[in-house]
This record gives sequence, structure tokens and C-alpha cells, in this order.
Amino acid sequence: MTTERTFSIVKPDAVERNLIGKIFAMIEDSGLRIAATKKIHMTKAQAEGFYAVHKDRPFFNDLTDYMCSGPCVVSVLEGENAISRYRELMGATNPENAAEGTIRKRFAKNIEANSVHGSDAPETAATEIAYFFNQLEIVG
Ligand code: UDP
Repeated sequence: MTTERTFSIVKPDAVERNLIGKIFAMIEDSGLRIAATKKIHMTKAQAEGFYAVHKDRPFFNDLTDYMCSGPCVVSVLEGENAISRYRELMGATNPENAAEGTIRKRFAKNIEANSVHGSDAPETAATEIAYFFNQLEIVG
């Protein structure tokens, strides 16, 4: 078994409603560890860079406006199979489809303001972590 790292964002809708601690508690209760974390307020350009993979999607402009509408909390999570475990804990993109007990079922407002982001594969995890953190900031 190998320890894996994934990248997480507590999105502006959740930070605005004071849910950082409750979401961190769900992450820690699941057995994942927080290896790095910080609060940031993305610029439009930073949000566009982060979500560049979605640049041709119809929701791109609204999504990037929303992601820079207020502060977020970005984190590196660590654990066995951290990527898939955190995706499972987050729940489906659309909270209407999210399973009971997931972060999005509990907290997400709608398909855009869905409270959390988590990397979907090892390559994207590595890219996303490097977008916001340098090696010295990550303490596993
Ligand atoms: N999103 C949106 N409208 C959609 C689909 C996605 O606003 O129809 C937003 C939503 O915030 C989502 C993000 O775009 O979390 C990235 O979409 P993706 O399909 O990668 O979903 P995720 O991996 O976050 O579940």
C-alpha cells in the first residue's frame, strides 16, 4: 500500500457559511490527514488557470466568477488511496445526486456552489497541488 496525496478546496460557498471546521472534521474523521492548508482569495486569472481543463464548457465563466467571489481554503490531503477516498467523501458533483453522509449532500447549495473540490486522478492531484503549494509547505 502506498500513501497518496490529493488536493482539496473548501469553496467560497462553504467558507462564507463558516463550514471550514465541519468539513475538516469530516475529512479527519474519514482517516485522511491534512498535510498542508491555507486560506486564499483567487483572482479571476488564477481560477481560470486552475479550471483550464473546463475552458470550453458552458459553465466555465460562471464557475470561475464564483471561485473568485470570496476566499477558499486549499489543502493537501494524505492517506492510503486518498484520491478516491476523498472523491467518495465529497459525493456527486450535483448535490441532488450525492449520497447520504457525503460533504456535498450535507452542505452543497447547488451544482456550481457545491462546497468542495477534490482531484480526480494522480496526475491532476500532482498538478493541482503544485499550482498552490511548494514542497516546503507540505508536511506529511
Ligand atoms: N460545475 C458547474 N456546472 C456543471 C458542472 C460542473 O458549475 O454543470 C462546476 C462545479 O463547481 C464542479 C466544477 O464545475 O465542482 C468542476 O466540474 P467537474 O465535472 O470536474 O466536477 P467535480 O470533479 O468537482 O465533481
